[in-house]
Amino acid sequence: MKKLNVLPPNADEASQGRFPSWLHRKLPKGGNLFKTERILEKYRLNTVCEEAKCPNRWECYSKKTATFLTLGKECTRNCGFCDIDFSKQPKPPEADEPQRIALSVQELGLKHVVLTMVARDDLPDGGAAALAAILREVRLQCSDVSIEVLTSDFAGNFTSIDTVLAEKPEIFNHNIETVRRISPRVRHKATYDRTLSVLRYAKDAGSNFVKSGIMVGLGETDDEVKETIRDLQAAGCDIITIGHYLQADPRKLLVKNFITPQQFKAYEDYGYSLGVKHMYCGPFVRSSYNAQEIKFSLTVPK
Ligand code: SF4
Repeated sequence: MKKLNVLPPNADEASQGRFPSWLHRKLPKGGNLFKTERILEKYRLNTVCEEAKCPNRWECYSKKTATFLTLGKECTRNCGFCDIDFSKQPKPPEADEPQRIALSVQELGLKHVVLTMVARDDLPDGGAAALAAILREVRLQCSDVSIEVLTSDFAGNFTSIDTVLAEKPEIFNHNIETVRRISPRVRHKATYDRTLSVLRYAKDAGSNFVKSGIMVGLGETDDEVKETIRDLQAAGCDIITIGHYLQADPRKLLVKNFITPQQFKAYEDYGYSLGVKHMYCGPFVRSSYNAQEIKFSLTVPK
């Protein structure tokens, strides 16, 4: 089977140009991979899998899953880690996007739909109404699916968060991305504390499950990661994902350090020891990786 090196060519010098074995990825065989691509193309849909060059896309497409990137494929922020294209003035959201997504959900046979979005700081509500319209249409056309939203921070606008929560997504997800110290370098417009307040707000507003994710390998220490796990738990997070940062483009931040599978396991154990309901940690874990399996492993509170 063909192997894919997903580590950036100019990773930290400490690696001496060698990729740790746990950061090698085996490519799955064709199967549903091309079928998924065809369906996404047919409905002219964007996925974060493609736009962010996710290392799992072959695997996820083979399993007929993908994460829809809504409200366009140009983001009004230019975060140091993210490979999505930047634009100060992206195109307006497309009126038929909700229908196209709903139709593709049907055709892909998804049971759990993950909708993420570019940050739309150019729109007064940050794109909340457009995202809510997609949720509504998917609910209408695909009655038996659960929906997870992976949102921006809406620039801290709680009214926008209310607009999304009014559609009752089963999981509200917003990533903190990194530890407090290096947050300004990784996400220059979002802030660590604003993310915590968004998560707290979503939990207090009655979300059944609140989720967030951390990337490691950006030069953070173990203690800083543990502090972030504690902060997320205190903000009401039920699910925390931790995965290895990989530089998708030479213009993006370098990988500073390699995190071993043992360390990922230690983070997982630490989160569980604090009472987090679901910890999912590993080199290739991403916010939406195996999201359906996580969703169906959770018990909905009465
Ligand atoms: S992990 Fe998420 S973003 Fe990556 S390919 Fe899978 S569904 Fe797409």
